[in-house]
Amino acid sequence: MEKIKKIKIKKKNKKIKIRSNIENMVRKTMADFVDKEVIPIARDLDDSGKFPDKLFQKLAKMGLLGIRYPKEVGGAGGNTTLYCIAMQELARGLMSLAATTAMQCLMSTNGLYLYGSKKLHKEFLYPALKGEKIGAFQLTEPDAGSDLSAVKTRAEKTSDGYVINGMKTWSTSGPKADFHTVLCQTDSSKGLKGLRFFLVPKDTPGFSFSKPFKTLGTKTSVISEIYFNNCYIPEEYALGKEGKGLDVLLTILSEIRIMTASLALGLHRAALDDSIKYCKERVQFKKPISKYQLIQAKIANMAVNLEAGQLMVDKVTHMIDKGIPCLNNASMAKYFTVESACEASDYAMRIFGGYGYSMEYSVQRYYRDNRFLLYGGGTHEVLQTTIAREILSK
Ligand SMILES: Cc1cc2nc3c(=O)[nH]c(=O)nc-3n(C[C@H](O)[C@H](O)[C@H](O)COP(=O)(O)OP(=O)(O)OC[C@H]3O[C@@H](n4cnc5c(N)ncnc54)[C@H](O)[C@@H]3O)c2cc1C
Repeated sequence: MEKIKKIKIKKKNKKIKIRSNIENMVRKTMADFVDKEVIPIARDLDDSGKFPDKLFQKLAKMGLLGIRYPKEVGGAGGNTTLYCIAMQELARGLMSLAATTAMQCLMSTNGLYLYGSKKLHKEFLYPALKGEKIGAFQLTEPDAGSDLSAVKTRAEKTSDGYVINGMKTWSTSGPKADFHTVLCQTDSSKGLKGLRFFLVPKDTPGFSFSKPFKTLGTKTSVISEIYFNNCYIPEEYALGKEGKGLDVLLTILSEIRIMTASLALGLHRAALDDSIKYCKERVQFKKPISKYQLIQAKIANMAVNLEAGQLMVDKVTHMIDKGIPCLNNASMAKYFTVESACEASDYAMRIFGGYGYSMEYSVQRYYRDNRFLLYGGGTHEVLQTTIAREILSK
């Protein structure tokens, strides 16, 4: 009996270590950077609506752009878990900076990393991971949003390459990008099986883009249409095999979804932190409003959903890093965290009362920026459909 008691006491005193040292270090480095360099200027940047060049360059110097790539290609040798931790912290400071950075770390560079030749790595991947070249990623067209089988941008085979004609829309970083990873149709009779990705440098004759879009939120993220008018691309610039465009997309779909979920966690955290501070300071009826149960209920709800979302994200990022298939878990995590972040920013607006409506406080930005999370990586209607289909098929 005495022995059992001793073992129990020993276990009680043992420190439970939930995260690795490197995970804690990345979180702390990014949190310090966001507190010191991003939050103080987030409002001005948002007002300017301009691409955040200086911060982007600082993040590049910190090695963030290559965080999930191996050192052999100029990356930092990290993984998806570390990438997502960094994105959570960045989104806590400024969603549009996080969105632009997330695009560079994953969507616009992954096809190049997996399928590009050494020559293409040297010309585009190394400079992209150093922040010297910006990349964009193009799936969406005016008539092809959720339904990629409707992609019309066509890559026509020639003797030694392809000629691309068509247009894409909602190109994040499009007007700033030096190269574009573009999903094209190579055989329109085959629908989803006739797709292939191509790398299109911005100086390709026939390539152009529109003026940046005016949008509700994520103001520093520059977005445009892009156009291809007889753009000749050598065979070497094809990323992945003919007809395998969807497979290339599927290699990162779980990661795109969990990255978006991570952005949601960051925004949710910001909404909760600001709400806690404000409700303790704001006095009405001679008491801080934090003393009122209806305010407490909102704080509790925001905190519980944040904790639950964090657990879902941590589980999925670790599954991805271990190579365990987890598309449905990633869909669930994206759906839950983004819906929760939307609710949290709405609650924050209410806790701030009329001041929530003022541009003086950041909660209005969280409320606008959270909408951005609803589309990329699958709309929530599409996610609900696929989550249910997977569950019901068993
Ligand atoms: C800020 C922002 C940045 C973006 N950046 C990029 C980018 O960099 N690159 C890129 O390629 N794209 C980008 N997109 C586009 C984004 O990926 C699309 O908006 C998304 O895929 C949805 O397509 P859609 O907007 O055409 O909506 P649609 O697919 O037309 O959907 C309209 C509505 O119908 C619903 N719906 C569609 N299909 C179904 C179904 N089968 N079942 C039930 N409901 C359905 C949708 O959920 C939605 O409510 C961006 C979008 C935004 C807003």
